[in-house]
Amino acid sequence: MAGSRYAYVRNFELPDPLLPSTFFVIRIDGKGFHGFSKLHNFDKPNDKNALTLMNEAAKRVVGGRELNGECVLAFGESDEYSKLVTLVVSVFSAAYVALWPQYFPNSPLTLEELPVFDGRVVQYTSEEEVRDYLRWRQVDTHINNLYNTAFWALVLQGGRTNLEAEKDLQGTISSQKQEMLFSRFGLNYNTVDPMYKKGSIVMWEDESRVEAPDASVGVVTPSSKLELTAVYRMMPALQESASTEAATTAEGAAPR
Ligand code: ATP
Ligand code: ATP
Ligand code: MG
Ligand code: MG
Ligand code: MG
Repeated sequence: MAGSRYAYVRNFELPDPLLPSTFFVIRIDGKGFHGFSKLHNFDKPNDKNALTLMNEAAKRVVGGRELNGECVLAFGESDEYSKLVTLVVSVFSAAYVALWPQYFPNSPLTLEELPVFDGRVVQYTSEEEVRDYLRWRQVDTHINNLYNTAFWALVLQGGRTNLEAEKDLQGTISSQKQEMLFSRFGLNYNTVDPMYKKGSIVMWEDESRVEAPDASVGVVTPSSKLELTAVYRMMPALQESASTEAATTAEGAAPR
């Protein structure tokens, strides 16, 4: 092949380097999961099995041999997952498919509607920017989850149509949504599963360490004494503004 007249096409394979001395964040996101989640009847607003499947696929990325332990932390919400370092989309998708039957034994995947993920890499130059990146995704998790919880309460318990529920929520702020959930549906938002409110952080943890709920997000090197766990914590910067109202500007979110 090397000497053939077709070999020139090789020149189109341009080098694609990333800046050295930076942190790589790779965000992957399920393609068309709005429809995919309908096809497989995901619970609304949050399907616990679907999220756990995402977490398990992420653990395979962080802990698998493909990335040589260079992926140190992963954060996930909904159908997206953010990670440091590459090969990620492929390992994630393969793990997702391999694990699928464990979580959805009665809803087999079809060749026509495969779960596929897009991925993008962003480079940050400081740890502070990486922290801000994670805070940004966690604010997104919170805002979307509060909206979706209110939206699906109105639809599933309140008998409102999707359109009516959307109208009901238009222009409301976080505190109003929480108040509505409490007074109309008896739901104290504080008691909602932290996996839904905060997203999932996959990281190596010392098995023996006592879990402090608001511990800062520390990263440790994998070793045989550590186990890969999914934890649900508020990122440090979000603790002060527990409702994250202060950290957000946008109040709207697309219904899920
Ligand atoms: P795109 O291809 O542009 O990413 P999308 O349809 O995947 O489009 P997203 O904005 O990524 O849209 O949103 C993902 C959607 O998948 C959510 O809106 C929700 O409907 C659904 N979804 C994903 N995970 C879950 C889950 N665990 N429980 C319930 N619904 C989920
Ligand atoms: P890299 O990760 O760098 O791509 P690699 O191990 O995949 O390394 P390649 O140069 O891409 O190496 O070659 C693929 C190898 O996979 C082949 O050398 C062969 O040993 C094996 N292989 C792939 N497909 C087949 C197949 N259908 N039948 C037999 N062997 C195969
Ligand atoms: Mg998207
Ligand atoms: Mg998506
Ligand atoms: Mg998404």
